[in-house]
Amino acid sequence: MEQDYLEKLNPPQREAVVNTEGPTMIIAGAGSGKTRVLTYRIAHLLKTKNVDPFSILSLTFTNKAAREMRERIEGVVGTDARNLWMGTFHSVFSRILRSEADRLGYPSHFTIYDSDDSKSLIKNIVKFYGLDDKVYKPNVVLNRISSAKNRLVSWQEYINNPIYLADDTENGKPEMGKIYKEYVKRCFKADAMDFDDLLFNTNVLFRDHIDVLNKYQQRFQYVMVDEFQDTNISQYLITKKLAAVRRNICVVGDDAQSIYAFRGADIQNILNFEKDYPELNIVKLEQNYRSSKTIVGAANSIIGKNKNQLRKSVWTDNGEGDLIDLIKATTDNEEGKLVASAIFESKNQNHYRNSDFAILYRTNSQSRALEEALRRNNIKYKIIGGLSFYQRKEIKDVLGYIRFAVNQNDEQALRRIINMPKRGIGATSVEKLVVAATENNADLWTALLNVNQILGGRAASAVSEFVTLIKSFKTAVEKKDAFEAASHIAKNSGLLKELYDDKTIEGRNRYENVQELLNGIKEFVENPENEDKSMPAFLQEVALLTDADNEKDEDKDYVTMMTIHSSKGLEFKNVFVVGMEEDLFPSQMMISSRQDLEEERRLFYVAITRAEKKLYMSYALTRYRFGRLKTCEPSRFLEEIDKDYLKINQKFSSSPSPANDYAKNFISKNTVQPTRKPVNQAVIHKPSPNFKPSNTAKLAVGDKIEHPKFGFGEVTKIEVQGANKKAHISFEKAGDKTLLLSFAKLRIL
Ligand code: ATP
Ligand code: MG
Repeated sequence: MEQDYLEKLNPPQREAVVNTEGPTMIIAGAGSGKTRVLTYRIAHLLKTKNVDPFSILSLTFTNKAAREMRERIEGVVGTDARNLWMGTFHSVFSRILRSEADRLGYPSHFTIYDSDDSKSLIKNIVKFYGLDDKVYKPNVVLNRISSAKNRLVSWQEYINNPIYLADDTENGKPEMGKIYKEYVKRCFKADAMDFDDLLFNTNVLFRDHIDVLNKYQQRFQYVMVDEFQDTNISQYLITKKLAAVRRNICVVGDDAQSIYAFRGADIQNILNFEKDYPELNIVKLEQNYRSSKTIVGAANSIIGKNKNQLRKSVWTDNGEGDLIDLIKATTDNEEGKLVASAIFESKNQNHYRNSDFAILYRTNSQSRALEEALRRNNIKYKIIGGLSFYQRKEIKDVLGYIRFAVNQNDEQALRRIINMPKRGIGATSVEKLVVAATENNADLWTALLNVNQILGGRAASAVSEFVTLIKSFKTAVEKKDAFEAASHIAKNSGLLKELYDDKTIEGRNRYENVQELLNGIKEFVENPENEDKSMPAFLQEVALLTDADNEKDEDKDYVTMMTIHSSKGLEFKNVFVVGMEEDLFPSQMMISSRQDLEEERRLFYVAITRAEKKLYMSYALTRYRFGRLKTCEPSRFLEEIDKDYLKINQKFSSSPSPANDYAKNFISKNTVQPTRKPVNQAVIHKPSPNFKPSNTAKLAVGDKIEHPKFGFGEVTKIEVQGANKKAHISFEKAGDKTLLLSFAKLRIL
């Protein structure tokens, strides 16, 4: 994006960019340039209107999206762009909470609990009250608390409003309110906020401290929100309050891509917006710049099935493009192989790089078979999300020490590190310390400082040594920069040595991971964009990384693998949507109501619309799930796509592909007998006995058939298009349908 940026916009986009005053809303289809409009709008404000970058607040879905936007804006206005307030709701408002923390009774170095911390705290509370942890499961309790907070229901309101008690009693969990209250109390005592608190407390801050609200209302002259359809009420209220004075707010989104209702995102915000701002300027964008006609057409045919939506048309000037490849596999492992082969072949034919491909799935657990196949084909890949770097045990251990050195009230961190590595402070001793702390209404750290009154013998001296160690870490964090302090802590805690002494491959990996963490802290310290180089600032950045943010590789040429949820807003030349099976996608847990099914369909729409040139979809007839082999049916979503856009892929499941040849060569060149089967050997061509696709060879006009969903019908026409064979069938109840025979399950009567 250079100087002539306004010429790179179509007329409605340009209008949205140059009309910067007053409220604007753009609700438009995928790939229509919404994010581009936001980016150019900011550039325009800075360049043409000379607005101070400090007075622009832009809220994005991931920190990565924010970084990319900032880079583009830098292309127009230079380094000024660094001073924009840009990031996710969580990262921007945790920054504000830090500077205003004292207003809420928190220190500015408060800890941010991740969901593991929250769950283990809940576990402690359930135990503390002597409740049954099979009834009060940590993640169930946490979800309930989280959804209350996201609807801005405080514990006081929760306890006093009989609706919640009635609901909880009906669910067999009448003590939920009590746990919520204790959870909030303990977080506060630990100087900690969980993820939801970052939004909840921002609302409290702006509600109870008008002077603070006024300050930020004055500061943020322009407020922008990307992916507006996925904001929850708590986020909506924050933006509404901030924009209340100047009313320069611009939100962009697509109701058809709302995929976080399960976390409290509310489409209602789009409708409220029109009510809250009667002078609203609504901009319509209809031209898709991202995808081929085939992909846009397929996406439209899918989303058209949803009743609950704002109608809008999306079209493109791009070429027709390839048909969608439908890949059928017998097993999940075979699915992985076929996907790897398709990537291999497409790379060769079209001179694509690995980074031109993405594989999207409904759940993280699907990645295993795909990873294995990619590895065997020597295709570099990267999983975004899943168990991220910062979720690994060894990293959390080091961060546990760092967190506790910064905040001695962080009890979850203390419990994690007190005997890690082992130093003779066993579970019984810890329990005694906890009891003593509770009895004296003190925190655990205070109990440790007074250990000689609580424990005796070796345990007491072990605790005393630990206390001395922590005190030295506290000094390090206060006196040294983040990198020096972290190196000191990793070394002197004994963690690094323990990992170094472990000579297994895993041990070595873990050791390298800790080194990598230290490198990361060094980069953080040396990065000129980070004004605050303190340890709390680093911890905040780490705590708020989102799925799509963990990208660090120098060599960025890899196939991206991620859940569909994390792929929002991104684009790739070629996209595979894998695991297109009933119960997996749509997910079994999400098809109990029309609303849930519509949310799954929107998720499918998001997946399809990530592709620029070519889309592949795959499904397996059997799959290991929850440790069991399961027979699967193709997803109902496949039947919902207009068949004109589909091509069934026969080639990959019958003849050896170049990738398979490659694998064979590789194996024969290595004299060692392979322990694994060569790629193609494991391909089973026989469908499983429970699956009965139609016998396409025999089917003729006039045949009577039965379909599992549409019931009885009669074949009126057979159409053959290359590898595709379609039957026009007139169903008694469901009317006329055209079915693709390769995966329609018909019984010929
Ligand atoms: P999503 O709903 O998936 O978030 P979006 O509406 O935000 O999509 P963008 O990501 O802004 O869409 O744009 C999609 C692609 O089209 C990008 O590669 C963008 O650079 C390109 N694009 C947008 N507008 C134009 C235009 N006027 N001319 C050329 N390319 C454009
Ligand atoms: Mg976008």
